[in-house]
Amino acid sequence: MITPFADHPIVREFNKLRKFFLLHESKESRNRIGEFRKFSYVIQKAGLEVAFDFVGSMNFGQSAPGSDVDLILYLECETYHHDCIQAQCKTWQMVHDYLLDSLIREYADQPYNLQIIDAINLKVLMDDLILGRSDSDTLLRFAFYRSICRSVNSTLLRPYQERLLENQLLLDRIRPHIVHIFDSFTRDASHNISMRKYQERLQDDGVRIPPSVRRRIRWHLDSAQRYRDQEANE
Ligand SMILES: [Zn+2]
Repeated sequence: MITPFADHPIVREFNKLRKFFLLHESKESRNRIGEFRKFSYVIQKAGLEVAFDFVGSMNFGQSAPGSDVDLILYLECETYHHDCIQAQCKTWQMVHDYLLDSLIREYADQPYNLQIIDAINLKVLMDDLILGRSDSDTLLRFAFYRSICRSVNSTLLRPYQERLLENQLLLDRIRPHIVHIFDSFTRDASHNISMRKYQERLQDDGVRIPPSVRRRIRWHLDSAQRYRDQEANE
């Protein structure tokens, strides 16, 4: 499946970098991806369809035994409020408390902490896609995550992604915003720390990090700033 902003320079470089790390995926990361495939299946059997986009160490295939799983949860929410926020959303709570939490405790090779970083209500997303709402925060977050994340059960997301890709005008309108989201994401101190941690993990495993990859990491960490400067000069 083509990702929405695969051709954007900062997205392209980020994904090349991610690919390098994924080539050297840790055992924990591989096991967990397999577990989440099973979890999405079990949740579907319980009558709910969900998909996941992973961020953090799972997105780079660099989970260690103690690391958390950070993810974006996609769900079709009956309550139909705009965003599915933990405290307000029964569906979110059900997926998190009764399904994912217990599934991890029961079936995970080694239990881990789960952090649902964001949740996207697919019903709201479809409405916004049909209306072509370029000011939709839900739509923007969806486009961003789908550009840079590794997913489980992406089949569920396909119709939404296809609809977005068909609408060139909408893509053009939200494209500049992607840079801004990327900007806050790469400037976050925790992202810099993570990138260093992934490199150290590989080196501990005896993987040599080629200079080209090191340059790419530097470029990636500086890129958002560079784009902002460029925009300011235009
Ligand atoms: Zn909800």
